[in-house]
Amino acid sequence: MDKWKRMEGELQALREQHLYREIKVIESPQRSHVRYRDRDMLMLASNSYLDLCDEAQVKAYAAKVLMEYGTGSGGSRLTTGTGICHIRLEDALARFKGREAAIVFNTGFAANSGVIPCLCRQGDVIYSDELNHASIIDGCRQSRAETVVYRHNDMADLERKIRERPGRQGLIVSDGVFSMDGDIVDLPGLVELADAYGLLSMIDEAHATGVIGATGRGCEEHFRMEGRVDVLMGTLSKAIGAEGGYVCGSHTLTEYLKNKARSYIFSTSLSPVTMAAAKRALELIEEEPWRVERLQENISFFCGRLREHGVEAASETAIIPIRIGEEEKAVKVSERLLEQGFFIPAIRYPTVKKGEAMLRAALMATHTKEELAAAAAAIARTIALA
Ligand SMILES: *Cc1c(COP(=O)(O)O)cnc(C)c1O
Repeated sequence: MDKWKRMEGELQALREQHLYREIKVIESPQRSHVRYRDRDMLMLASNSYLDLCDEAQVKAYAAKVLMEYGTGSGGSRLTTGTGICHIRLEDALARFKGREAAIVFNTGFAANSGVIPCLCRQGDVIYSDELNHASIIDGCRQSRAETVVYRHNDMADLERKIRERPGRQGLIVSDGVFSMDGDIVDLPGLVELADAYGLLSMIDEAHATGVIGATGRGCEEHFRMEGRVDVLMGTLSKAIGAEGGYVCGSHTLTEYLKNKARSYIFSTSLSPVTMAAAKRALELIEEEPWRVERLQENISFFCGRLREHGVEAASETAIIPIRIGEEEKAVKVSERLLEQGFFIPAIRYPTVKKGEAMLRAALMATHTKEELAAAAAAIARTIALA
C-alpha cells in the first residue's frame, strides 16, 4: 500500500477544482505597498488595517525592549514565561477596553480554542453563529458542550434555539466583525438575549479592534454598549500589527482562564519584543486618532468608488467583499489584478461556500484616495473583462 496515495489524490482533486492553495511570499515588510514577485504592489488584502507592522515608533520601542529583555520568554506563563512586558501589555489592554483585567494568549486562535472549553463543558450549550471563525468552531468542538449553530446574525433564530433548550447553562459566541463578509454582529440583540436567558456573551473582536467605534475600541464602542459583553476576545495580530490573542473581562474571568485554559498553560509565552510592539501600537491608536479616522474615511470612499463603477460594495469595516461566484473566475480576476500591481486575493471554498468565491479587499489607514480610486477602477475593469 502506498501511504502517500490518499494525500496525493486529494491534492490532485483540489487542483482540478481550482481550490489548490499556494503560498504567496511577500518580499518586504507588511505595509500599504509591498514587494511581491519582484515588483511594487498596492496591498489591498492585509489585516494590518492601521499599517502598524512597520511603524517607526513601534519598531523603535520594540528594538529597545529587544536589547533589554532579549528574544525569548523561556517558559509558559505560569512557570518562567511572564515578564514585565507581558503584564504591561495586559494592563494596557484592560484599560483600552475599559475592563477590570486582560489575559494574553499566544494567538487569537489559541485564545478561542482555549477559552471556549473553559467556559462550557459537557451538558452546557454553546450558541454559535454559522459564520464564526474556525478557531471558535474548534473551541466549541473541544468543549464537548452541545453546539447549536444559528443562522448568520439572526437573533430570532437564536432566540428560538435558546427557547428549545430551557434552563441550560451556556454561552452565545459570535465574531464581532465577520472575517469574510465584513459585516457587524447585532450586538444589542445578542447581549439582550444573553442577559434575558442567563447565558454568557462572547465576542471575537479580531477585525473590530482598531477599526470600528469612534476611537477604534471595537464593537461595544460602535454600539455605545461599553462594558456589556462578558467575554471580549481579540487578537493583536491584525490592526495592532503584532502577534497574540487576548481576552478582556472581569477578574473572575481572567483568573479562571489563567488556572484552566490549556492553550495558556501549556505553551511557551510570546517574546517580550512582541508584547512591547503590541503595547506601543495600542498607545499609538490613542495618541494618533487620525489612523482610525482615516481608515473609516477610506472605507466609505472605496465602497463609493466601486459602486460608481457598477461593482456592488458596502461595508462599515475594513473588509470589503466583492462577489464573483465561480472559483475559477475569482482566481483569474485576482491574478489579472496582481499583474496590474494590485494585491487582492480570491477567497474560495472552504473559507466560503462553494460557488460563492469572492475578492476580499482589506483597507488600510495609509492608503491614499488616489490609490483607492485607481484600485476601484481596475477591479471594475478586470471583472468586466474576465
Ligand atoms: C484572525 C482571526 C482569529 C485568529 O487570530 P490569530 O491571532 O491570527 O490567531 C480569530 N478570530 C477571528 C475572527 C479572526 O479573524
